[in-house]
Amino acid sequence: MSFLRLCLRWWIAGLWCLAAPLLAAQPLNESERAYLGAHSPLSLCVDPDWWPFEVIDASGQHVGISADLLALLGERLGLQFQLRVTRTWEESLAASRAGECRLMSFLNRTPERERWLIFTEPLLSDPNVLITREEHPFIADLAALSGKTMALPRGTAMMERLRKDYPQLRFVGTDSEAEALQMVSERRADVTLRSLIVAAHTIKHKGWFNLKIAGQVPGYDNHLRVGVLKSETVLRDLLDKGIATLTAQDRSRVVDRHVSIKVVTQVDTDYTVALWLLALLAAVALTSLLWMRRLHQFNARLRTLSQTDALTGLLNRHGLESALALDVERAQRFARPLSVLMFDIDHFKHINDSHGHLMGDRVLAELGRLIPAVVRQVDTVCRWGGEEFVVICHETTTEQAVQQAERLLQRVRGHVFPHQQALTISAGVATVRAGDSVESLLARADQALYQAKNSGRDQVCAETPA
Ligand code: GH3
Ligand code: MG
Ligand code: MG
Repeated sequence: MSFLRLCLRWWIAGLWCLAAPLLAAQPLNESERAYLGAHSPLSLCVDPDWWPFEVIDASGQHVGISADLLALLGERLGLQFQLRVTRTWEESLAASRAGECRLMSFLNRTPERERWLIFTEPLLSDPNVLITREEHPFIADLAALSGKTMALPRGTAMMERLRKDYPQLRFVGTDSEAEALQMVSERRADVTLRSLIVAAHTIKHKGWFNLKIAGQVPGYDNHLRVGVLKSETVLRDLLDKGIATLTAQDRSRVVDRHVSIKVVTQVDTDYTVALWLLALLAAVALTSLLWMRRLHQFNARLRTLSQTDALTGLLNRHGLESALALDVERAQRFARPLSVLMFDIDHFKHINDSHGHLMGDRVLAELGRLIPAVVRQVDTVCRWGGEEFVVICHETTTEQAVQQAERLLQRVRGHVFPHQQALTISAGVATVRAGDSVESLLARADQALYQAKNSGRDQVCAETPA
């Protein structure tokens, strides 16, 4: 028997599902058509700031859950609405009271409002739910919560009802919906009772994820209806025809479009964190790159400084040794001639002694400028130390190197140095042999120079042939 009753119930429900959308296609009767002909578009007042239920957006459009539900009704009944733009809910109520809008989009029925409005069946019913912090247990009966504090927006009809129904609770008033939730989140109150849809939306958007829905209070549901001016019963009945065609699916599709009750994703925040991390990484990478570049430049500069003689700006002994090591190896491998000239200023001590050390420095610097101007550009000039210089002559045999050195000696003899006196230099020449190292090559050049000094100075001596 009960099975038969169940089948009958399913059959009726199925029939209703099929019939409901058909109702939408039903033609309006004579008086309804006449009414719409005379009053279309229908003036409409809404709450301009009650997201996600409804708002008037920056472009003056009515958007949100109620806007979508009314649009659905408009489609099914052939209605057109004319939005009256207001800035506050109070302004909308006043306009409605003054008869300036035939419809109020989405509101609870209260005795106060029934003084000038009649109401349709609910466009949407939305339970009021108890909201507490995560650690709070489920609340099966609000009456059992004695001495707890409930935060509620001030002056609402709900506050008055709750005070009467649950006198054991302490109530604190807030200025807004969000503030009530915030007080619970911040432990300044224990619980609040808010619309499920608004609460879900606010918790998600404010990020108060320590809040949870802890129960429901029977009889405290919001039945949100369209309010119609008392005189317009035709309009109210016509709207009810349309509301009767709204299925649970229609309603949940609209609600889902604006608010997801599953408060699980925090996609926006995650992306923000990821983007910040990415920016941080990029900044770190960029800074490291810049530092590496600067370090590289520093190192290159240090390398140059460590191989440069400060007084003359020529390569120093360390610089010459590393350059010459490569040159000697290359000359030996490819059997090319490579010679070195080693110079020393004759009686340099006299210059220091009679003109001072500073003048000695100026003479050294002048010679440092003269030598590169005389030798070939490809040759490498170095200050070997004190008043001694070395020139590496590439692709140069001993004879050619001797000629080169003679040319240099001649230029020095004819040059006017800072101390305004004659100056001569002596030179020793050596050429790379098989099995030579930098040291052995330079030692032979030094020996040749010694020979030049011993033979009376101001002359060139080549090493003794092997
Ligand atoms: P010779 O080579 O003809 O035998 O005589 P010399 O007088 O040039 O001999 P010696 O090598 O003994 O002296 C070189 C002098 O050069 C000694 C040193 O005080 C001086 N001297 C070395 N380095 C510098 C320098 O950087 N500046 C100056 N002003 N003098 C230096
Ligand atoms: Mg000397
Ligand atoms: Mg010397």
